Amino acid sequence: MRVSHHLTDETLQDYSVGSLSAPMETLVACHLTVCQHCRDRAVLADQIGGELFDKFEPVSLSQTSEQLIKQAALSSPIHAPKTEQSSTRTFKDVPKPLARFLSAELDELDWRRIAPGIKQVNLSEQHRSLGAFKLLHLAPGVVLSAHSHSDRELTYVVKGSYQDEIGRFKAGDIADLDGEVAHQPVVDTDEPCIALIASHSPVKYNGLFGKIMQPFVGI
Ligand SMILES: [Zn+2]
Repeated sequence: MRVSHHLTDETLQDYSVGSLSAPMETLVACHLTVCQHCRDRAVLADQIGGELFDKFEPVSLSQTSEQLIKQAALSSPIHAPKTEQSSTRTFKDVPKPLARFLSAELDELDWRRIAPGIKQVNLSEQHRSLGAFKLLHLAPGVVLSAHSHSDRELTYVVKGSYQDEIGRFKAGDIADLDGEVAHQPVVDTDEPCIALIASHSPVKYNGLFGKIMQPFVGI
């Protein structure tokens, strides 16, 4: 898998010190399973974090990125599958840190239609005002409403691809956006795009249509 969009230093540092939400940790762990470049940087972030930590605390923070991935995979699930077995199941095209949230293959999930060409599986029961943790299934040619974020939003491409003002995102890529960036993703092949999204706050739509639709589609 050739990955061309990576995590920011800031996100890797937050991941290293354990200050990300559980959904965001899951997305970071998904990307680390396919990206040697970010795994190396995560190790570096651990070392830097450990050194800084040593200056203020008597104990050292010496977790490696592998331990952090394991920890993210074991941390308490937000909307975990009911059966014991499913936590160890593997699904086609699904990285391990995401698999524990799923109960079936991607094609067999209980996708809920939220707009023409857009379906979702909500992975968290928290109110949308607190942010999202969900899988989006976007049909070929779908154009999402132009929007920005008031906080960090992570998008991990599970399958397919999309393009926006930042570039082209394919399976394995992560879009690590802060509140400054406005973008309008477009699914750019004849294959549906499945993306995993985690945010801390609802998106801010730029157009009137998006603002009107937001309470209905919940993204
Ligand atoms: Zn990377």
